[in-house]
Amino acid sequence: MRKNIVAGNWKMNKDLNEGIALAKEVNALAAQAVPKCEIVLGTPFIHLAEVSKTVDDSKITVAAQNCADKVSGAYTGEVSAAMIKSTGAEYVILGHSERRAYYGETNAILKEKVNIALANGLKPIFCIGEVLAEREADKHFDVVKSQIEEGVFHLSPTEFGKIVLAYEPVWAIGTGKTATSAQAQEMHAFIRGIIVKKYGAQLADDTTILYGGSCNPTNAKELFANPDVDGGLIGGASLKAGDFMAIINAF
Ligand code: PEP
Repeated sequence: MRKNIVAGNWKMNKDLNEGIALAKEVNALAAQAVPKCEIVLGTPFIHLAEVSKTVDDSKITVAAQNCADKVSGAYTGEVSAAMIKSTGAEYVILGHSERRAYYGETNAILKEKVNIALANGLKPIFCIGEVLAEREADKHFDVVKSQIEEGVFHLSPTEFGKIVLAYEPVWAIGTGKTATSAQAQEMHAFIRGIIVKKYGAQLADDTTILYGGSCNPTNAKELFANPDVDGGLIGGASLKAGDFMAIINAF
């Protein structure tokens, strides 16, 4: 069964105390509601263990925003998938466009990260999406297809069943410029179509595909109403508990 998810991506925001306070606020709001989706908090590494302990894990799970492409050893400054798992986190966001653009993460590196995350019991939230020039050149479908083929299509059906995809047009991230509901649905249906060809209709139907890019309390309802949009990956609006909860309540 396909799961609806609203996942916050805090990026490099909030010190430890601020992060715990935000998690407590989201937890309190979620306790008063009956959320129709799984709630995920994508926190910086240092918050993971404390936030995991703070939230009600029957409603809220925790995600890291990255993991190392190596298992363990002499990789100063890196954080392994096993370490993340040991904090209580369930997910790891991989392939975010900021990681691809600023930290040189290629599809080949991401494939390694996906493998290591899965081997350590973490579920990847795998991000894909085109930059503006690619959309303007009508290459957005090709770009997204290769990101998926090179990042996750080597997986067995059982492994692929643990992946959440997040379509995030890069031109919509943090810009206040959202893809239209029709543009989101068109790409999500395209993505589901290529999953059908690779893994069959059942697995494609079960795959959660999130939309990300300036999703907010005002546009979430229309975006989530699309048959192939199964929730959102939320940046800016996840930093305010009230806004994040309003997006969750859009389901
Ligand atoms: C993101 O970075 O994943 C994102 C969707 O950011 P924003 O919601 O701020 O556009």
